[in-house]
Amino acid sequence: MPGDKPLRIAMLSAHSCPVGKLGTKDTGGMSVYVLELARELGKLGHRVDVYTRVHDPNDRIIYELGQNARLIHLRAGEDEEIHKLAVYPHLPDFALRLEDFRSRNRRHYDLIYSHYWLSAWVGRRLQKWWRVPHMVMFHTLGAVKNAVGVGAREPELRIKTERSVVSSCQRVIAATEKEKEDLIRHYGASAERVSVIPCGVNLNMFKPVEKRSARKQLGLNGDKTIIFVGRIEPLKGIDRLMIAMSHLRNGYRLRLLIIGGGENSRHEIERLRKLAGELQIGNSIDFMGLIKQSDLPLFYSAADVCVVPSYYESFGLVALESLACGTPVVATRVGGAESIIRHGETGYLVADNDPRSLADNIMLALSRSDNAAHLATMARASLAPFSWPNIAGTVARECSDLLTNGTTD
Ligand code: UDP
Repeated sequence: MPGDKPLRIAMLSAHSCPVGKLGTKDTGGMSVYVLELARELGKLGHRVDVYTRVHDPNDRIIYELGQNARLIHLRAGEDEEIHKLAVYPHLPDFALRLEDFRSRNRRHYDLIYSHYWLSAWVGRRLQKWWRVPHMVMFHTLGAVKNAVGVGAREPELRIKTERSVVSSCQRVIAATEKEKEDLIRHYGASAERVSVIPCGVNLNMFKPVEKRSARKQLGLNGDKTIIFVGRIEPLKGIDRLMIAMSHLRNGYRLRLLIIGGGENSRHEIERLRKLAGELQIGNSIDFMGLIKQSDLPLFYSAADVCVVPSYYESFGLVALESLACGTPVVATRVGGAESIIRHGETGYLVADNDPRSLADNIMLALSRSDNAAHLATMARASLAPFSWPNIAGTVARECSDLLTNGTTD
């Protein structure tokens, strides 16, 4: 890090543990972001402590995440997984324990980087105590989720907290220009305090596996294979993908692999199974459950196309991961899709998740799968700007800029 002063960063991820089980109800892209970014900033020479809530009595207090990067578990509330809203009443305790840990260990931080509105609440309190800049990334926004109107309604408490943090923090990191617009429109953010920095992908983990070999290892037959990866919840639009599948059934022999979902996604999975039965496509769909992230490259590589049929994404790491493995993506124009996918080259962008449009675009992607090797090379090459070292470098510059030019008022 020649010429730059190492930063000391307190990163907050109160409700979701960065080493938690990915693909379960509350653990997804944000946890990946926090973990990868902390590690990468650490490699750049910065010192990062990530604070999260103990969610398992067997959790160690301190985990080394990598060079200069640690994860610290704080007791606040029950030592078990609790619904994220149930974390809210424990936030004052979380803040006190964090301060206690910090002062006992004589740590000092230059900057707080909070993730999601719950941590942002804590960050706002710490900012007052420590008088250092507070940077926030919300990952999703309550008001925007409510405007979409799919799934459970977000409580007013969340929206009020987000609004208050937007006006009190020094900088908000938005993953896309659209998120920046949403922050301005729904929360009255001032444009100069919002910076757009996309999320990244681990190009060492997500690499292509030769398609034939990947399919063999997974025991897939000659059917065209569509893959969905993510948390299983209504906003992801999996039901729309299933209806699209039922439209496509006459054109191809198809298989849909649905990856993700833990115990607390049971109801949604039951709903989707029922729908598959009604659409008479139950035999073509496999609910694979959670797959370890390090095993996902095999699945992405084996698939002919990855579909992201979401109503809303703040960014959408799955599209990046699939392209990194050389598999085209069909995605609704939400989150980072437009900046990730080159329409007609590395995948297809769909205006919304209308099943007919999804089906047409999946068909287009499948019809090009003979050209898979060329496409794979092109897809991977298009992702260089999204490598984590690149993203971490940009975040670090943003932090330095904030320390030089920002105010803590
Ligand atoms: N994921 C995983 N195993 C699963 C399902 C998902 O490791 O069984 C990971 C996936 O690789 C991705 C993340 O969970 O990194 C989901 O992130 P994304 O941004 O697509 O969605 P979000 O969770 O933010 O809505």
